[in-house]
Amino acid sequence: MVIGLTMSDKNEKREFQADVSQVLDIVTNSLYTDKEIFVRELVSNASDALEKLRHLQLTEKEVFDDNLSLEIHITTNEEDKTFTIADYGIGMTRDELHQNLGTIAHSGSKQFVKALEEQAKKESALIGQFGVGFYSAFMVASEVVVHTHSWKLDGEHLVWTSDGRTGYEIEESQGERRGTKIVVKLTEEYEEYAKEDRIKGIIENYSAFVAFPILLNGERINKVEAIWRKQKSEVSDEEYTEFYKFTSKAFDEPQYRMHFSSDTPIELNALIYAPSENTELFGFGQMEAGVSLYCKNVLIDDKPDGLLPEWARFLRGVIDSSDIPLNISRESMQDSRLVQKLNKVVIKKFLKFLDGEAKSDPEKYGKFYEKFSRFLKEGVVTDFANRDNIAKLLRFETSMTEPKENIGFEDYLARAKEDQDKIYYLITPDRKTAEAGPYLEAFKARGIEVIYFYDAVDDYLIQNLAQFQEKNLVSIDRADVELDDSVELEGESLPEADIETICSFMKDHFGDRVKKVAAGKRLIDSPVAVLTPDQGMSAQMRQMMKAMNPDEAAPPIDVEMEINPRHPLIKQLFETKGDNPDLAQLVADQLLDGALLTAGLLEDRKDLISRNIALMEAALKKD
Ligand code: ADP
Ligand code: MG
Repeated sequence: MVIGLTMSDKNEKREFQADVSQVLDIVTNSLYTDKEIFVRELVSNASDALEKLRHLQLTEKEVFDDNLSLEIHITTNEEDKTFTIADYGIGMTRDELHQNLGTIAHSGSKQFVKALEEQAKKESALIGQFGVGFYSAFMVASEVVVHTHSWKLDGEHLVWTSDGRTGYEIEESQGERRGTKIVVKLTEEYEEYAKEDRIKGIIENYSAFVAFPILLNGERINKVEAIWRKQKSEVSDEEYTEFYKFTSKAFDEPQYRMHFSSDTPIELNALIYAPSENTELFGFGQMEAGVSLYCKNVLIDDKPDGLLPEWARFLRGVIDSSDIPLNISRESMQDSRLVQKLNKVVIKKFLKFLDGEAKSDPEKYGKFYEKFSRFLKEGVVTDFANRDNIAKLLRFETSMTEPKENIGFEDYLARAKEDQDKIYYLITPDRKTAEAGPYLEAFKARGIEVIYFYDAVDDYLIQNLAQFQEKNLVSIDRADVELDDSVELEGESLPEADIETICSFMKDHFGDRVKKVAAGKRLIDSPVAVLTPDQGMSAQMRQMMKAMNPDEAAPPIDVEMEINPRHPLIKQLFETKGDNPDLAQLVADQLLDGALLTAGLLEDRKDLISRNIALMEAALKKD
């Protein structure tokens, strides 16, 4: 022993950090109705510690107690009312004990506290996903004692003790092996967890896939297997589902699973799941990447950020490749050519898989799409390499589908007319608005299908996508839409000269409010419509900019007006302009505001109302 250092210098008492107390309080008193999950949490920590050790053995020259087998030993003692779990994993140094068990440094708890602060929905099943791990032992314990010795050669033998209320104590001790042994002293209420049968049932339930042998009172109880390296025919549906729940700590059922292996361009086995619940929709913030990276059954990283594209963060599962070096670091992950290869192969395969599923079972895909479309849209915007394949998976209603019936771009193109070289769409709050507005008329008359986009992000999505299979996406409210003459327009038109007169009358009156007034052939039932000029900003983009900078003046409205020279109202307006120009101006203003309103561009509605009253007065006046 080092001279001058007495035992008492090495023993210390500390209080928990404030947020630890908060978590402890919630965990022990209200979080889990199922107290038994503490077993799963402690087993999962033991397994993590072994996994890390296995990794260190491959990358470090020397490890303390190198000959110990990588196993988890659980013992129950009914007499003493204890549950003990020991692993020969990496153990903890003094600093690590403070860090890991005395502060909230680890990911799960941190997120958990954050979610509480944000007053997220407290659905208990989902909260379980945060796994506030180690502290769950205090739900059933009067005291927890952690014996530990780090893998580092200069490590100390340490004993950490706490009642889970005020604080903890660390003492030095003798003769510990490498790794961690946790003794849970059960309260009377929970002495059932000192029974072998009870614990056996729990482990079979939660920890069947732990990659290390678990021995209960000396007897092996789990079978260790990496199911992603097995043949599909050797794995049952139940095993697949169980594995999903185990790897992703999920409580839902997987919606899809894809299991495949490949030898070129890189050796890999992958088992990928899509969940059925999207926790981002519950207000829990961004999901973390959830496909783990393994090399020959050894975990390299369970949340590798750069492994798959960001938009694919909702995927869960495992990618195992013997070509990946074990010592690849988090930092170099994104730059690694090998990882990029994995990324490419797996995502390509997954998109193809999803496309197949969407075609063979559209109803099931529809359910998935309802919850996960935002991820696909994000992919279209951010993942250039996979853009077309993701775009294939988008679904929408159109002017030719039934409400709630969805199609994709491929269906659209398959039934488009042969000479149609564009894909037409309209961004609209809903179907009714689209069908009541003036834009659809020309397309309906010509039998051209128009896609409806309802989502606030869709405009941005389309700006980025721009094309599908080399056909431009064109909004039908744009001035530069070209229409053929195939449709016989009903009603006598105003003569050319009169059209010119009425257009310049309106333009003069509107001034800067519109760029241009002109007659066109797209309108059938409506007298006028406002159009977005070539290069102009769409109404949705404008709304988005306004929402992002509410204090700044909105960008000026940028529209052209098309008039329908066959419409009785326009013809009447031409007449009225001669006898009663004031009334004609009133009508013109009302037409413009009405058209802006339909386009989602009218900022101030008060004139619309007062003008309406003036018009009614004029209409009812007897002279
Ligand atoms: P999480 O597992 O989500 O990180 P836990 O509360 O379960 O959170 O555990 C906290 C931390 O304590 C772990 O991250 C780990 O560093 C450490 N730890 C817990 N159990 C062990 C163990 N058996 N061996 C080594 N370290 C452990
Ligand atoms: Mg844990």
